[in-house]
Amino acid sequence: MVLLAMAGMAIAPLVYADPAPSLTLTGAMTHADHQTYREVPFRVPAGTTRLTVEFTYAGKDQKSVIDLGIRDPQRLRGWSGGNKQSFTISEAEATPSYLPGPLPAGTWKLVLGVPNLRAGAEARYTARVYFEHGPSFAGFNAAPVKAGPGWYRGDLHMHTAHSDGSCLSQRGARVPCPVFKTLEAAHARGLDFIAVTDHNTASQNDALRELAPYFDDLLLIPGREITTFQGHANVWGPASPIDFQLGSARAPTLATIQAEVEKAGGLISINHPGQPSGESCMGCGWSVKDTDFSRIQAIEAVNGGSLWLPGGAESGLSGIPFWEARLNAGFRITAVGGSDNHDAGFDPARPASVGYPTTVVHAKALSQPAILAGIRAGHVFIDVSGQRDRLLEVTATASGQTAEMGDALAAPKGEAVTLRVHVTHAAGAVVRLAGDGAKLADRAEAPLAGDDETATFRLTGDGRRHWVRADVRGGSEGRIWMLGNPVYLNAPAAPGG
Ligand SMILES: [Zn+2]
Ligand SMILES: [Zn+2]
Repeated sequence: MVLLAMAGMAIAPLVYADPAPSLTLTGAMTHADHQTYREVPFRVPAGTTRLTVEFTYAGKDQKSVIDLGIRDPQRLRGWSGGNKQSFTISEAEATPSYLPGPLPAGTWKLVLGVPNLRAGAEARYTARVYFEHGPSFAGFNAAPVKAGPGWYRGDLHMHTAHSDGSCLSQRGARVPCPVFKTLEAAHARGLDFIAVTDHNTASQNDALRELAPYFDDLLLIPGREITTFQGHANVWGPASPIDFQLGSARAPTLATIQAEVEKAGGLISINHPGQPSGESCMGCGWSVKDTDFSRIQAIEAVNGGSLWLPGGAESGLSGIPFWEARLNAGFRITAVGGSDNHDAGFDPARPASVGYPTTVVHAKALSQPAILAGIRAGHVFIDVSGQRDRLLEVTATASGQTAEMGDALAAPKGEAVTLRVHVTHAAGAVVRLAGDGAKLADRAEAPLAGDDETATFRLTGDGRRHWVRADVRGGSEGRIWMLGNPVYLNAPAAPGG
């Protein structure tokens, strides 16, 4: 007998929670079911964008075995036999053994195979079925990759075979580069999180779904590079496709794309805004009319491709001036780095190889929600050459308030503000303040003699709005090694305005 219990159609985000299933299928198998198949029907409602099944059964001590698969209204959607107890299927990606694609409404069937059930034995089973609707935000990791707060290192801008990423094949030919090569390079760099941001597609997500259990020390955040004729922007978080045809009926304005990203709980980051636009690099600079910067969470201040040029992070193609202009206009937007890697390469010394630059985020855990929240809050510095051990920590204090990078701090006229800048593994470099708040400080620069130093700056508030950040500069040319995000003096509490 099959019991069918409907428990409502709630949207079930399957991360970091144990939500109630949308429906539960239960039943029992006996020796009469030995070496037969049972198809258990259930209805998938219209508008479902993800279906997840968690399957358990009793009787394994009696060598009872129930294999698992699923049929949609038209076809077999997958069979994992006895090798997986749970699976997820969405439009763009699915657990290996299962086919991604649209989830047609109607009668689906859980397919149960029974290779063995002894005489006299009974195997009770439970299938918990979850339906999600709308843009997916589930990600690939069902739990934090690491618990606890810390500085986590990542690269959120890379390309693979799913767009224009290429590498050498076994025979030495240049071919579209499989996704696992990029993850291997990220692992070699010692990164904690990545996003694979192929141009305007979500097809890489199916590969990432397969790779996530193997790369279990790496948080995989769904992403893509929205590539338009007026500019490029990364979107992180949603796994589902996002409209990119800016200027067409699908996405008449940037605001329509921003609304879609916001609905999915994602972040949008303007890429390489210092690049030219024209026949040398089509649509690379940012020329989107009427951009609402209060709905832009990040700007790629340091792009790996521009680091080859004289000046490094401050070359003629740097994104820093574009970012600073937005800060001067009163926006609170987080500076991030992106390698923009296109060859899955890892080389500790090569700009634009995976993790060069690295974006380092202070987050409550190594999880998708925590990393995205850390970026949104501006708790971020850019390690230009992607070292494993460099740190840039800023703590600002005034009258009992404490702020870190990205935070706001009240500094009325005459108020003493102390800025402590903790830097590791940059001996011989200097800390230099930047931004219009730097003029409030007792000095502009402090040397770093050793590999674990704290430089202290004393500022006096003037009651007006300012931003001030600390960079670490080193080498013979005094290039930026680490770029900090600002502390905002006398700014409204919430980012974005
Ligand atoms: Zn781009
Ligand atoms: Zn790119």
